[in-house]
Amino acid sequence: MVAFTCNICGADNEVEEFATEPATCGCGSNVRLRALIHLLSMELFGNSLILAQFPKLKAIRGLGLSDQPGYARILADKFDYTNTFYDREPRFDIAEPHPKLAGSYDFILMADVLEHVAPPVECALEEACRLLKPGGFLGITVYCSPSDQMREHFPELDEFRIVQLGDSQVLVNRRQDGSLEVRDDLIFHGGSGATLEMREFGMTALENQLRNAGFREVFFLTENLPAIGVLFDRDVSQPLIARKEPFVMDRRGQSQLAEEWGAANELARRQQERADSLAAQVRMAEESRWLRLGRKLGVGPKFKVPE
Ligand SMILES: [Zn+2]
Repeated sequence: MVAFTCNICGADNEVEEFATEPATCGCGSNVRLRALIHLLSMELFGNSLILAQFPKLKAIRGLGLSDQPGYARILADKFDYTNTFYDREPRFDIAEPHPKLAGSYDFILMADVLEHVAPPVECALEEACRLLKPGGFLGITVYCSPSDQMREHFPELDEFRIVQLGDSQVLVNRRQDGSLEVRDDLIFHGGSGATLEMREFGMTALENQLRNAGFREVFFLTENLPAIGVLFDRDVSQPLIARKEPFVMDRRGQSQLAEEWGAANELARRQQERADSLAAQVRMAEESRWLRLGRKLGVGPKFKVPE
């Protein structure tokens, strides 16, 4: 049995083993989604916070590509965040140019999306880079082959359709030179919409593609974080962050964070008044993650434990 606290909803869970796909928490989270939210929290706050306990910072703008409702709902509550879909409203095709939105997002999340984007995948990575602010970052989970081989399944895909033929589906493609290609070796992933697997990444090729698209730093999360239910022994999807420049919270975000911290501080103060001894009060304050974060960011008083 492994006991962990879900860093998306905050629930305490016990599981026998971590499977690849099924959720291991009532909120629908699995290993790779908890890892993605951990990475998001580390980028924004330098701390691994529970998403449900993130401060409400509407100054931070985020874009989700087919994010699951379990965590998308919380992200929308905390940030100026929009979840979008390839095949339904609100529609968003990351491979298309969106000049009016250039430079407007602090973060973009692509959870198990990149393997399904039609080739060339470079278009999607370059567009993601354009959409981000200078200090913005991209949070990704994607399957990477253990052999580090990059395999593009349909390199000559141009005008194509997936059609039902008898019991199975086939892909019909008209290549750029006008010739036709029919393929029946298709791999579909769970979920609705465009779930045809277009490629298999290797970590090296993915990092190179991200750097070529304009990202300065790529960080792959490979360490286990058992306390929040991130154990990579079964889950094969690789979580990573691609940064343009290191994230810095702008003045509006800082001011909202200070307000949130002030409210948390006020709550702690009232709790302290009810506490019996000064030592107990200080311990309570010390235990508050919020106060720790506030001190780290330089907005809190310095507590001292009395003798
Ligand atoms: Zn959960």
